[in-house]
Amino acid sequence: MPFSKLGLHPSLVQAVRDMRYEEPTPVQAEAIPAVLAGRDLIATAQTGTGKTAAFLLPILHRLLARPRNVTQALVLTPTRELAQQIDDVLLGLAYHTGLRGGLIVGGAAMGPQEKALRAGVELVVATPGRLLDHMRNNQARFDQIDTLVLDEADRMMDMGFLPDIKRIIARLPARRQTLLFSATMPPVIAKLAADIQRNPLTVQIGRRSAPAVGITQAAYPVAEHLKPALLRHLLRHTEMPSVLVFTRTKQGAKRLAKKIAADGFAVGELHSNLTQPQRTRAMDAFRRGVTQILVATNIAARGLDVDHITHVISVDVPAVPEDYVHRIGRTGRMEAEGDAFVLVAPPEERLLVRIERQIGQRLPRVTLPDFDYSQAVPDGPPHGRGARGRPPSGKPHGGGSAGRPRRPNGGGRRGRR
Ligand code: AMP
Repeated sequence: MPFSKLGLHPSLVQAVRDMRYEEPTPVQAEAIPAVLAGRDLIATAQTGTGKTAAFLLPILHRLLARPRNVTQALVLTPTRELAQQIDDVLLGLAYHTGLRGGLIVGGAAMGPQEKALRAGVELVVATPGRLLDHMRNNQARFDQIDTLVLDEADRMMDMGFLPDIKRIIARLPARRQTLLFSATMPPVIAKLAADIQRNPLTVQIGRRSAPAVGITQAAYPVAEHLKPALLRHLLRHTEMPSVLVFTRTKQGAKRLAKKIAADGFAVGELHSNLTQPQRTRAMDAFRRGVTQILVATNIAARGLDVDHITHVISVDVPAVPEDYVHRIGRTGRMEAEGDAFVLVAPPEERLLVRIERQIGQRLPRVTLPDFDYSQAVPDGPPHGRGARGRPPSGKPHGGGSAGRPRRPNGGGRRGRR
């Protein structure tokens, strides 16, 4: 079904055309008519399914028929990066409408945000903490907000935002449309939905917490102290145009980025020890391909949309299987292909088994024939990056092509639509 058949305003259909969306994704096809009809919605959709446009398009459509200069719609999302990403999509979709969005996130100056709120931007995209700061200052009117989106609701719960969300909702009109997007539906979200929604339509896209199609996965068993060395070996000997590396801790991310940089790679860091401008710069550089590798904590695991990531490498095994699915969802976006590797120390095997159970798939265990697994020194001497693109040296066990180094031309990666 084309976008033009969804009943959206022509200015939005035009924007979608400008953005080269050919047809609605499944979550868009289901959600847009329901939201246009004014219904509450619970959507459990995998990341990368087009959920942002699924809520923005019908909201913009409805705003078009309303008075301007009054804030009427609010999107709450857990992290600054996600808020920025939603705001970017909003800019594209609202291009022909004259509707304005305001980005209200921590780590940025309050002044311009206050100005935007006072000017009555029609749609606000915010992280909960900073929005509450503004609400406390009473700088703007929030009593006309009758459309609320909770994006990545499960992540917001994980991050402890439930009390903030409740406080925010208490400031909004009781008569409103509430759209809840969550990758998973733990009981705490079901309870929240029951408290704040009215007769919601439930849309479930794809299998719960399954990785997107097009992702080839592999596990690399290795002693904990050899993980940095194995990672550097993989980076040096495999063609990896754009790599997102995950570590459990901020310190770990920092240390690892330093080691990788010593090998001559262009590398960035993304974790919460950085200031907001540093985080934005790191994201921008990675997005533009200025840095080939971004080392991040889970802060980047949810929802980040960088369309060219070819590899996601987890240096530790996440304790929560869903976190694994979110991490690897950073590659293979919108049906492109990508590889996801996880380095597994012996004590982490049981965590990996839990993940395998959740995703319904056993990952091939890969050992690299030319990596010295018996080395005592944690890390080898730095090498230049000239070694990249050498002939394949990885040897997957247990079937599948995962772990096979990519050909120098990035062989066979299907582009995004
Ligand atoms: P999201 O799940 O909202 O993070 O979206 C993932 C990516 O899909 C974003 O880069 C969107 O721009 C893109 N996208 C959203 N809807 C469509 C569509 N109908 N066709 C093609 N790409 C889309």
